[in-house]
Amino acid sequence: MSAEALRELEARWVMPTYKRAGVEFVRGEGTRLWDSEGGEYLDFLTGISVCSVGHCHPAVVTAVREQAGALTHVSNLYLTEGGIRLAERLCTSSVGGKAFLCNSGTEANECAIKLVRKHAHGRGISDPEIVVLEGAFHGRTMGAVSATPGMAANESFAPYLPGFVVVPRDDPGALRAAVGERTAAVMLEPIQGESGVHVIADEMVAEARIACDEAGAVLVFDEIQTGMGRTGSLWAYEQLPARPDVMTSAKALGGGLPVGACTAAPDFADTLQPGDHGSTFAGGPLVSAAALAAFDVIDDPALLRGVRERGAYLTEALEGMDGVSGVRGRGLMLGVALAGGNAPEVRDRLLSEGLVVNATDPSTIRLLPPLTVSDSEIEQAVGLLGRTLG
Ligand SMILES: *Cc1c(COP(=O)(O)O)cnc(C)c1O
Repeated sequence: MSAEALRELEARWVMPTYKRAGVEFVRGEGTRLWDSEGGEYLDFLTGISVCSVGHCHPAVVTAVREQAGALTHVSNLYLTEGGIRLAERLCTSSVGGKAFLCNSGTEANECAIKLVRKHAHGRGISDPEIVVLEGAFHGRTMGAVSATPGMAANESFAPYLPGFVVVPRDDPGALRAAVGERTAAVMLEPIQGESGVHVIADEMVAEARIACDEAGAVLVFDEIQTGMGRTGSLWAYEQLPARPDVMTSAKALGGGLPVGACTAAPDFADTLQPGDHGSTFAGGPLVSAAALAAFDVIDDPALLRGVRERGAYLTEALEGMDGVSGVRGRGLMLGVALAGGNAPEVRDRLLSEGLVVNATDPSTIRLLPPLTVSDSEIEQAVGLLGRTLG
């Protein structure tokens, strides 16, 4: 079926919530993608930082094949080893405590929202508040969307969940002032992804930690996009002046399959009790096998050093290009500010030249290549970007 025919079928049967490009990808391997007409691409978006180990990584493929032939699902009414091992891996590699597994980023944040609200009620707060930052993106279910100021402005879906307080992302004083007796949590992305790769300053992160400690509130980091090696450490907070109490992850966690998690430090590990939360699919054997395989690939000092080195190289190359007014980010999570403010047009031109990226806003191109990207693939992408932007 041609891409054109597929587009017509989509228009007839699929709710029109996505503005898709007119290309159909049919195969992927490492950093490469192929479309239905045989065209080859370098993927510098990886399904929005999902395929961070590259497409069809042999370790993930083998784990999924073997598990698919043994057992895919039984529900959380019974023990299965994969999900328990994944929770262990999440906790021992981050804040300790215990993890709740789920199927997506937004669900991980729903768990965090419920956890911090229950924790606040336990401290006698009857109408708890969660402080969030301008420009944040926490997901699209009703709780997570209420924590996402840019989307909670859309009246079509009102009323939203109450109890969210918004502060500027670069004003430690405003953050401090917003945290008080009713504060259940401060929730932030160490680097805001969807709003255009905005690094939250160290002073802001440090202030959030101090304010939470003083108020007895929970510090929640949404590491759904920044986690799993994306910024050059397994978790982005390892390079920051503060540790969270609760951390959410998803995207790259499943090696390409849908897995999310909310991991809580020991003091918060038993806040949610039987009946408080759950999910039919969550932590099933198939996705857990994929996630454990992805963890083995990413939780590797040599790979993480490569992410830092290649990120630094790519940043320097981009900063020297005509048409680039600045580069934001860390590791292999980069936002390229375009002087011409024509990001959607540049994205489309790059796609037709064989480089997959996205535009987060009219003047920003976002690069999220696989963490396994090679030097020669980076060189090739730099060449394509230079020619297209120049
Ligand atoms: C993608 C993303 C989410 C939502 O994840 P879904 O899997 O799409 O629900 C939440 N927070 C951040 C920071 C994200 O990047």
